[in-house]
Amino acid sequence: MVPPELRISTQGKYMPLPAFIHDLDAFMEPQDACSAACRRPREFSRNRFVYTVISARSRGLSIGVNLNPDAQCNFNCVYCEVDRRKPAEARALNVSVMIGELRQALALVCSGQIRSHPRFAHLPPDLTELRQVTLSGDGEPTLCPQFAEAVRAIVQLRALQDFPDFKLALLTNATGLDLKQVEQGLELFGPGDEIWAKLDAGSPDYFERVNLPDCSLAKVMGNILQVARNRPVVIQSLFPRLDGEGPSAEEIERYVGRLQELRAGGAMISLVQIYSATRPMTNPRCGHLPLKSLYRIARLVKQQTGLKAEVF
Ligand code: SF4
Repeated sequence: MVPPELRISTQGKYMPLPAFIHDLDAFMEPQDACSAACRRPREFSRNRFVYTVISARSRGLSIGVNLNPDAQCNFNCVYCEVDRRKPAEARALNVSVMIGELRQALALVCSGQIRSHPRFAHLPPDLTELRQVTLSGDGEPTLCPQFAEAVRAIVQLRALQDFPDFKLALLTNATGLDLKQVEQGLELFGPGDEIWAKLDAGSPDYFERVNLPDCSLAKVMGNILQVARNRPVVIQSLFPRLDGEGPSAEEIERYVGRLQELRAGGAMISLVQIYSATRPMTNPRCGHLPLKSLYRIARLVKQQTGLKAEVF
């Protein structure tokens, strides 16, 4: 067990933390695009669908909306932090309850009252400023049957201007981006809203091994291409150490080739986020990749695609 004062979950390695940040780990967003809802501090708000976390990749405070309280997902990633051996909460999203919780959370954050909570009190003020509202889940958010209804309600709440304007970000494994309710929801996104799409693999074999999906890599690629031709997307790529090894050099070449393929197809990619699994996971075969390996991947992405790549 790593002592709390040595834990940091933003950079994929352990290092001493400044004193103010010791409590932060409990609020850090998990490193995966879609399972960001897990480990959120439910005890803080006792909410059913809305939670508040400090997120490294959001660069500060993010209000999350869990669209999958039932933990439904069509992937079974080796690094997933959602323990599906436990019975799911089996609760469907209730949009009106979710909006009520979101309104409360926005009021708490935007008024600065969140800083009176002991767990946020010692953070620098800029870390407690709202960066975005994240559509996420204990599973894949695009599988939520009320996806369009939820987005519509959030966009309507934003339009009331009771709170400062905020950005929406959808964290997704991309497989449901072509579903009707998702297309309808995404039509409501404003120009500043974002889609953060998972792409962890270059070869179908590695995709099967890491993501354990119920669909093909071609499907994921096709969906990313479809949305990214219309609006810039952020690509999120998590490379775990699996059975003691990271992805092979050949696999990384294939992965970079997928990014080149997307660009050549007309995809707009504003950023590639490279990171690894950084929390204790339910799968003992899965571990953290050294930071230097992540930087090597990011360098290859930059050199061979010209895309902006950042390591988290
Ligand atoms: S896509 Fe993978 S990491 Fe995300 S919720 Fe599904 S199984 Fe978990």
